Amino acid sequence: MTQIKLSELNSFDIEIVFDQPIIEFRNYDYTWVKCDEDRIANEFSPKIIKLKNGQYVQANINDGIWEINKKNTHILSWRFNPEFAEPIANYIDFNNKKEISTAKKRFDFPEKPALLFPVQNGIEFSRSKYPFSAIACFTDHCDFDTAENLVLQRKFFEENNVKVTKGFFLNHFSKRADNASFQNDKEELLEWRNDGHELCYHSLSQSIKNEKESFEDFENFVPPLNDLKVWIDHGFQPYNFSLLSNNVLSEEEFGEILNAKNINILWNYIDSGTSTNGIINQLNTKHFTLASFLKGNKNLGLTKKIQLMIKNIIFHYYNDENMILKYKNTAGNFKKIIFQKKIKFLLPFIKNSLSLGKSIFKVILFWEKVKNKPYKLSKYSPIVFKNIIGNKEFYVFQTLEMLDFKRSLSKHNINTLIDEKGVFIAHTYFSVPMKYHQGRLFADSKTIDLEVSENFNYLGNKIKNREIWNPTLTELIEYWKGFDKIIFDIDLDGNIFEKNNILLEIRKAI
Ligand SMILES: [Zn+2]
Repeated sequence: MTQIKLSELNSFDIEIVFDQPIIEFRNYDYTWVKCDEDRIANEFSPKIIKLKNGQYVQANINDGIWEINKKNTHILSWRFNPEFAEPIANYIDFNNKKEISTAKKRFDFPEKPALLFPVQNGIEFSRSKYPFSAIACFTDHCDFDTAENLVLQRKFFEENNVKVTKGFFLNHFSKRADNASFQNDKEELLEWRNDGHELCYHSLSQSIKNEKESFEDFENFVPPLNDLKVWIDHGFQPYNFSLLSNNVLSEEEFGEILNAKNINILWNYIDSGTSTNGIINQLNTKHFTLASFLKGNKNLGLTKKIQLMIKNIIFHYYNDENMILKYKNTAGNFKKIIFQKKIKFLLPFIKNSLSLGKSIFKVILFWEKVKNKPYKLSKYSPIVFKNIIGNKEFYVFQTLEMLDFKRSLSKHNINTLIDEKGVFIAHTYFSVPMKYHQGRLFADSKTIDLEVSENFNYLGNKIKNREIWNPTLTELIEYWKGFDKIIFDIDLDGNIFEKNNILLEIRKAI
């Protein structure tokens, strides 16, 4: 380690070869599992293994990722920022083309990474404030909020004891007159804050002004409250984080502006997957596979099921930008041919459909091989990670898309989350009115759907009896900062101990 200049690296691996195999691995759900499948521990999971001779091995710090390949269990890879572990979305041009890059890192470890060999046990720490329980966090996009439905949502969450991180538009600049904003609905939004919810920016307005005015808004806005730390990109606002690569501002200027306005937690369009039956825990890579998605949607009609599967194969399994563009073009051209009778779009439509069809056919052909492979951007379970913009450090969070609250928050799913000590940060649109959104919160503009209401009631009770911690996003990240400070050491008797007193709950892992 001494020869390597960490400041010059953005990613590196340490490979450790043991003279005997690793037989057990402490999983994210705090249970021992065998190494008969590939194992991964991210920054918020225990880093403890057991060798064949019964020896425990534990990391002294919790940074990075531990990875074991089932084909060679003598090797432990300790990886720092490998590809797709901390992904950032960048829109190139304004034509919707998205590229994935790797977070920019500044490695500052509390101590140099080392392995400890305790004689009796390892030590693990809880991700949740309620020791070793599950975590449910909601981040809501306000695209369809109105003064009227904001009140209904707030009362609903109060009745069910659920807290959310609620996006709002600072300025009322919208094609819809009744769209809620801080400018028009300050009192109501402050009621949310009083109830213990977190308020967060959803860009600055619903609709897009011209480029000059947009940047003036961005550079000059004054934070309306002093505790607004979270920023969620909306639409294609030119000043969005995801458009930084073709922004008129340099990275330094962009980072400075956010920093000056007290913003340091960002979201930019990456979901681990879409929640449905059996898909709820961002830590469990088995939830983010094609097989799991198919199983979760098995009682849907055939057409809907095929439609969802094709979308999932393209957006999550391949997650390939050219393919996503072709998919969008195909859908657009289809509409132009059918509704506008524009024949010139027929040829590109056929070309794109054939090319997509080939990729989808490949999945069907090799189904047995690919069905259980985690999606590209879910393999390392990214949830919260750091990223440098300019020379300032920010947190980026990755979400679980949650549209259908009947399926996503069914009793079965909530129990799964609890059993797996899982985590989700949901990406929601609570006020969406469109009828084709199955399982939405509002049955009509004045009533909450009964089945969804029952689900939230069940969730609320689990929160009350502390089986699930329901933090706001900032609360979660503040608590998880403890993981950066963890240092373990071994005393003269070979016992592992916590070297610096951090506030996380810990216990022995035997
Ligand atoms: Zn939005």
